Amino acid sequence: MSVAFLGLGAIGAPMAAHLARRGPLVVWNRTASKAAGFAERYAARAAATPREAARGAEVVITCLPTSREVEALLEGSDGLLAGLARGSLLLDCTSGDPATSRRIAGRLAERDISFADAPVSGGTNGAEAGTLTVMVGGDEATFRRAQPVLAAFGKRVEHLGPVGSGHAMKAVNNALLAVNILAVGEGLAALARSGVRPRKALEVLNASSGRSFVSETLVPERVLTGLWPRTFRLALLDKDVGIARQYLAEMGVSGPLIDLAGRLFAQARAELGEEADYLEAIKLIEAQAGVALRD
Ligand code: NDP
Repeated sequence: MSVAFLGLGAIGAPMAAHLARRGPLVVWNRTASKAAGFAERYAARAAATPREAARGAEVVITCLPTSREVEALLEGSDGLLAGLARGSLLLDCTSGDPATSRRIAGRLAERDISFADAPVSGGTNGAEAGTLTVMVGGDEATFRRAQPVLAAFGKRVEHLGPVGSGHAMKAVNNALLAVNILAVGEGLAALARSGVRPRKALEVLNASSGRSFVSETLVPERVLTGLWPRTFRLALLDKDVGIARQYLAEMGVSGPLIDLAGRLFAQARAELGEEADYLEAIKLIEAQAGVALRD
């Protein structure tokens, strides 16, 4: 099957690498040098434009910051719409928003092109290992077509419902992650101030009912070690919580916790900038409390 992948960012590149190992792959990236470097390393072909990438591809995958960039990529004489063939399939692995995806799906359907949203979870480590969770929104036939392609980088590929459902699921997941990061940071900061070593506090937490992925994996590996690797931009998590807030509002669910996490992450983004890693929100808690969660 001929596949094209557009968006070789922190998570897109390792996802595309799995596809390249499986069969012929065409890649495109806004910064062309990244596509050229990828093509050389993985024996893929780099396309000069989205149109060229899509031409002849049965499946086209996008992985961009937001749905806005995906929608924009459709347009123009060099855009995706100019290259996508009738009967082809566009899979959007961006953590996007349901409403824009429904609009994109509608436009593609007019040209007999299928669409599914297929955001992923598992981080850059999961992408490298090919163990991502993929959350798919689309009709049943589209899901069945998409499943074997997504399985190249996904260990668990789940169909959630119609177009937009994958994005809704992903936004809720990441809103919970955001709430958790802040809550774990706040609790550990207070314990550290009172003299409890952060590592000891985490060990006890992780043997108790308040544990989470944040306390079990992220904080021990990235905060206590002082490594703070940059794998997922805080700006993108801020975007995800924004999507979740809007989704809850549309569903008529009042979400004070997620709203507050959204406001705090927006503030953190303004203070730390577009390149900061999502866990660096904890640095702001450390600064306020006057402690370092290093051990
Ligand atoms: P990055 O910021 O690392 O990469 C973004 C990619 O999008 C780059 O290829 C970039 O191109 C491209 N891009 C940015 N703006 C445009 C534009 N206007 N037109 C065309 N291409 C553009 O993001 P990630 O790879 O980390 O994330 C991609 C998506 O995956 C996001 O929706 C994110 O929320 C989601 N995600 C990320 C995870 C992670 O751990 N990083 C985990 C799970 C989901 P260029 O190289 O030119 O800048």
